[in-house]
Amino acid sequence: MPLLVYIDGELLPEDKAKISVFDHGLLYGDGIFEGIRIYYGGIFKLREHVDRLYESAKIIRLEIPMDKDKLMNEVIRAVRANKLKEGYIRLVVTRGVGDMGLDPRKCKRPSIIIIVTPMPRFIGKPIRAIISSIRRMPYQCLPPHAKTLNYLNNILAKIEAITAGVDEAIMLSLDGYVAEATGENIFLVKNDTLITPPTSAPILAGITRASIIELSEKLGIPVAERPVTPDELYTADEVFLCGTAAEIRPVVEIDGRTIGSGEVGPVTRKIIDHFDEYIRMHLTPVYTT
Ligand code: PMP
Repeated sequence: MPLLVYIDGELLPEDKAKISVFDHGLLYGDGIFEGIRIYYGGIFKLREHVDRLYESAKIIRLEIPMDKDKLMNEVIRAVRANKLKEGYIRLVVTRGVGDMGLDPRKCKRPSIIIIVTPMPRFIGKPIRAIISSIRRMPYQCLPPHAKTLNYLNNILAKIEAITAGVDEAIMLSLDGYVAEATGENIFLVKNDTLITPPTSAPILAGITRASIIELSEKLGIPVAERPVTPDELYTADEVFLCGTAAEIRPVVEIDGRTIGSGEVGPVTRKIIDHFDEYIRMHLTPVYTT
């Protein structure tokens, strides 16, 4: 059965789901998005994702043409139409159709796109990484807290990882501190404390990151949000990445150095073991019984 894609209120079969070549989302990457997981027939942290979308919109001065409650209902409608109980939602708002110039005032109405698609679980699957030579965009260039359609910076880092034959690239800030991976936040464990760069670093304020901080505190694992240097990653007991799509992925090698034992460490394991329970407590049900 083809997927049904939501575009501006309509649910279209995927081969008919098209937007204009004059949309500034395509021409200039002018737009914002969210990636959201569907688990057990519910949407994980839907409210938090929609809140962040509106914050991204505010940062780039884009007016989403409906209110938050209506948008949440449209997301639920799109998931229901696809009858998926597990999967992934890509919620995109583009600046809309304009002319050849940059001027966003020419774009009369933003377009809302909701793609719902199956996605496998990745939680617990170990990966290898490099530290990229491409730095994460600083505040002065593009506000990192806005989840915009401008991912070329991250894609260049990802290409570097692929060229190096590993799975992921870790990006540093311009001043050389650890920021995040290309589509995930990063944590390290040292002496049983969980450490992660603060949101004042050039990172996306990840919803999975916040979930892990909350869960770890409940589990009695101390958490420190502070600047992290690249060498601290090499000598960490454990490192993992986290994000909506990736979930929680242990990093067992960085730049050819084995991290800790080279296996999934005990603190990461503990968090992974409790994550499912945490997910179940934060679901917006899609299918009414
Ligand atoms: N950083 C970047 C650059 C991302 O694209 C993502 C994925 N949205 C994340 C971090 C993780 O954020 P979240 O946990 O909200 O998916």
